[in-house]
Amino acid sequence: MTADLRTLVDTVARRVVDHADELTRLDQAIGDGDHGVNMRRGLEAVLADLDAIAAKPAGDALKQVGTTLVMKVGGASGPLYGTLFSEFGKTLGPEIDATTVAAALAAAIEKVKARGKSETGQKTMLDVLVPVQAVVAAGDLARIRAVAAESAAATVPMKAIRGRASFLGERSIGHMDPGARSSQLIVEAVCDVLEG
Ligand code: ADP
Ligand code: MG
Ligand code: MG
Repeated sequence: MTADLRTLVDTVARRVVDHADELTRLDQAIGDGDHGVNMRRGLEAVLADLDAIAAKPAGDALKQVGTTLVMKVGGASGPLYGTLFSEFGKTLGPEIDATTVAAALAAAIEKVKARGKSETGQKTMLDVLVPVQAVVAAGDLARIRAVAAESAAATVPMKAIRGRASFLGERSIGHMDPGARSSQLIVEAVCDVLEG
């Protein structure tokens, strides 16, 4: 893995860890209040493994991030983020550019949908990941960042159809989905690193 990818994984992990309290507050409103704790546990494990992860080629490194997330995050989001990173790593070849990243992300999102039996419009992380994927190939980081922010905000008026928040029915309306927010944080951290 190149120094750039190490910085990328490091920055993403730290960003999520730094926002754990916010993610937990969001999950307190419409879930069981553990999304921040779950994500912090997983990404701290990634940080602890960073040397081993960084020693691998990009695809294998991302697969290991995914495996660590499955093992350490737990909850609904662990297997889903684990699938996202693992499948992204599996699909991404040695050639890394906006087009190959968009294709790998599309493939990874399909696996997340299959695993979660979920689609967009159900107030989940997919409501950020899918619209972001749609603009990745164009390679405009400002646009990617804006789409991530708008899409996370757009989960506020949604009624949850998947995940614990769906147990609240109409009462899930009016709060941002925690997983949508964590996805936005990940996308922003990637954009920050690529903007340098
Ligand atoms: P849990 O709900 O098991 O406590 P977390 O709190 O860590 O797990 O994660 C909750 C987040 O996981 C939700 O905000 C949502 O974005 C995402 N999520 C839950 N179920 C699904 C699903 N079936 N498909 C996609 N995302 C989901
Ligand atoms: Mg939760
Ligand atoms: Mg939970």
